[in-house]
Amino acid sequence: MRLSAMGQQLGLGIDAGRRSLPTLDERQRGTAFLGLEVNRIINPPEATGMPFWSINPYIGCEFGCAYCYARDTHRWTAERNQLAGPRPPREDFEHRIFVKRNAADVLRRTLDPAKVAGASILIGTATDPYQPAERTFGITRALLEALLGYRGLSIRITTKSPLVGRDAELLARLSRHHRVSVNISLISLDPALIRRLEPRSPLPHARLRGLRTLADAGVDAGLLIAPIIPGLTDGWGALGGLMAAGREAGARYADGFALRLAPVARSGFLPTLAREFPELVERYRRHYGGRHHATRPYLESLAARLRTLQKIHGFPVVARSALRTEAEAVAAGPAATPPADPRRAPPAARRRRTSLPASRTTGQPTLALL
Ligand code: SF4
Repeated sequence: MRLSAMGQQLGLGIDAGRRSLPTLDERQRGTAFLGLEVNRIINPPEATGMPFWSINPYIGCEFGCAYCYARDTHRWTAERNQLAGPRPPREDFEHRIFVKRNAADVLRRTLDPAKVAGASILIGTATDPYQPAERTFGITRALLEALLGYRGLSIRITTKSPLVGRDAELLARLSRHHRVSVNISLISLDPALIRRLEPRSPLPHARLRGLRTLADAGVDAGLLIAPIIPGLTDGWGALGGLMAAGREAGARYADGFALRLAPVARSGFLPTLAREFPELVERYRRHYGGRHHATRPYLESLAARLRTLQKIHGFPVVARSALRTEAEAVAAGPAATPPADPRRAPPAARRRRTSLPASRTTGQPTLALL
């Protein structure tokens, strides 16, 4: 795929005409923040091939997750602006962040509510809108303030960062005019495991604190367990623990999606897997092969497990295709079946919880399929 096409697909709305980008800030760890002027900030479904409109205030992300699928878009931006960095593109993604500094002005100028009607606007489909850069530059906050000038939109935000709590009051105000929900993304409650896969992301307790802040402000917020890492974070105990913690923190919904290994994510994740969890390499080769998805039986079993846990923990139960992409499901929003009584877990679930082999890493029961 041509890089420019890739950028459009990922919905990053880049002004290819700019060649000179000012350095906005530098950090001790060597991160540079480069100001980018864009001529488009909200990307239509036709540009991305996804059933939603998308906004990404930043390109690149300091959190540096091994499974991140947005790295090529950063390379494309650097190359289009003749700003190839000193590091390999993969590392550059985490060390040089492009800041779309005119994003809010462009949104005010270009957002046509009539065109967007009936579809959701997703903020943070490619990079985290509350990554550390947001603390300094406030691009996401400025975008939300711009959206206060409209009415009746469906807005969904996904982040791993408790910084979203800073905007709780603004999000509550926005919720009076739009349908707003915030997904707090968290793959595990185990900080050591998180650090092996997400070198600089906020730790679980911080993300749950962010979730609590939103819930206390009356913002519709839930837990997004994504990606679920087969063999590492897919155990009953691990997923159930996350849902229980989310519930405790005020989540109104919880859902999750298995790891997808499209080429960009594959090139980052598989070396990490080989280094950190070599015992899983052969199982991944068998169950992913050259495909983006794990096997259908695995995905179906995982979807069934999530539905059972949603019932157990009193969340709405999501009925969806196991092969639906994470982004599609996030766009569709939380589900449709009302929450079950958490005290009435189905007997089959209780039986299955004890009949599966334990994960070597977490000691929790895991799926037998991988
Ligand atoms: S937080 Fe999201 S955008 Fe940032 S590195 Fe992780 S997966 Fe990529």
